[in-house]
Amino acid sequence: MTAGKICIDGIWRAAEKGGTIDVVAPSDGQVFSCIADGQAADIDLAVRAARASLAGAWGATIPSERGRVLSRLSALILKHADELTQIEARDTGKPMSQARADIAACARYFEFYGGAADKLHGETIPYLNEYFVSVIREPRGVTGHIIPWNYPAQMFGRTLGPALATGNAAVLKPAEEACLSCVRLTELAHEAGLPPGALNLVTGYGETAGAALTAHPDVDFISFTGSPEVGTLVQVASAQHHRACVLELGGKSPQILFDDADLDEALPVVVAAIIQNGGQTCSAGSRVLIQRNIFETVTAALAERINGLRAGSHEKDLHCGPLISAKQQDRVKHFLTQAKATNVPCLAQATLDADAPGTGYYVAPALFGPVPETSDLARKEVFGPVLAAIPFDDEEDAIRIANDTEFGLIAGIWTNSGARQMRVAKKLRCGQVFINNYGAGGGVELPFGGVKHSGHGREKGFQAMHEFTVTKTIVLKHD
Ligand code: NAD
Repeated sequence: MTAGKICIDGIWRAAEKGGTIDVVAPSDGQVFSCIADGQAADIDLAVRAARASLAGAWGATIPSERGRVLSRLSALILKHADELTQIEARDTGKPMSQARADIAACARYFEFYGGAADKLHGETIPYLNEYFVSVIREPRGVTGHIIPWNYPAQMFGRTLGPALATGNAAVLKPAEEACLSCVRLTELAHEAGLPPGALNLVTGYGETAGAALTAHPDVDFISFTGSPEVGTLVQVASAQHHRACVLELGGKSPQILFDDADLDEALPVVVAAIIQNGGQTCSAGSRVLIQRNIFETVTAALAERINGLRAGSHEKDLHCGPLISAKQQDRVKHFLTQAKATNVPCLAQATLDADAPGTGYYVAPALFGPVPETSDLARKEVFGPVLAAIPFDDEEDAIRIANDTEFGLIAGIWTNSGARQMRVAKKLRCGQVFINNYGAGGGVELPFGGVKHSGHGREKGFQAMHEFTVTKTIVLKHD
């Protein structure tokens, strides 16, 4: 794999200023590789290369051929799945089986969008006599993509699949904390036949490379996934250029357990939804709202499950890996300390594996409850494996609490009452609702995105292809 370089116009080269950034393995805190420290000058070259590719080979590539390139990329990802899994697990610290699932998901994105590339149709509109009106969809143009460290490979597929399928030329700025899989995937994209300039990769810090990409006047659209704070900066920079953007931000997603829920089905899913990726998932089910008459029983059962979990190095493939960095570890520990200091009962804490290196960034999964509705644990995004249990009285109370955060990404409802399922689903303010399941990670076909501070715009499914295109109305007058 090409270490310490960026890819512009299909060529791997050092950043203009020549700097690199150390890459640290979260499992042991040791430096094991490096990425290029790309900056504004590199972003400028990348945007120019993307623009040129639209006027050249990539712009001339017909949709079915674009689809074939993406399908070949999907096959190459599967062919190199072992290598990519190793890279992703070491770089992010996630357990090997989770990394393997992420690589499969990345391949699935390119499979889906490869197949969809020549199936995005326009429409015709009946109008006046002697007129023929068609509405066609065109690529946005040069698209900027800024992604976080929690799912580098999945995000690569999620944001670039629909952008490339619809004929945009992309500049990707992945997260400085973890992006080695993106480097390898960019190599594979070119091996799959993507012409030079269609995908340019500039690694680097957010404040430099990321900010330069969002401020660049020749970028037509920005796709951003990350924190609400940086999302605001991206939106402001986009507004300055009257440019659209899609923002996929944070969440404080509730799982609502009514007293008629099938607990054998629900509880393993509730636990999985908070420990997956160490809770560093935007759609983590970080609040479990439990009907008051079953609160004690359910929290006792959840505590038993969480006490039985083990956290450790990615190589041991336990239930949970380390967090991404010392900074993230400190942040999560602060929430735990604060909860304990304010006497919120800690009902369970998993075990840290005896072999977990002391230099790694571990926090064992924990359950707190009853968590006061006003506390940080109930309202703020922890981005760690910490589950807040909150009691509710009835349906109305559950909906009120579920909607009472600044976020609105996804939600889970567990009940066997058919009428209640749809009644509650309709009243939740969020972008996805899961009834008797909870699976935002899967399903490339399913439009995904938030409301309120969780962002706007949709990724995944055909809807993402709409985000990455604009319509043009053509009005023809004939005899
Ligand atoms: P972050 O916002 O700090 O970083 C995300 C990306 O933005 C990185 O590539 C970073 O380099 C870049 N960036 C940082 N400062 C920038 C700036 N000034 N201008 C332009 N780019 C800049 O977020 P993070 O801490 O890396 O990720 C965690 C957050 O991401 C969480 O809040 C989480 O909920 C969210 N997230 C959301 C989704 C989703 O799909 N909704 C998915 C994953 C993560």
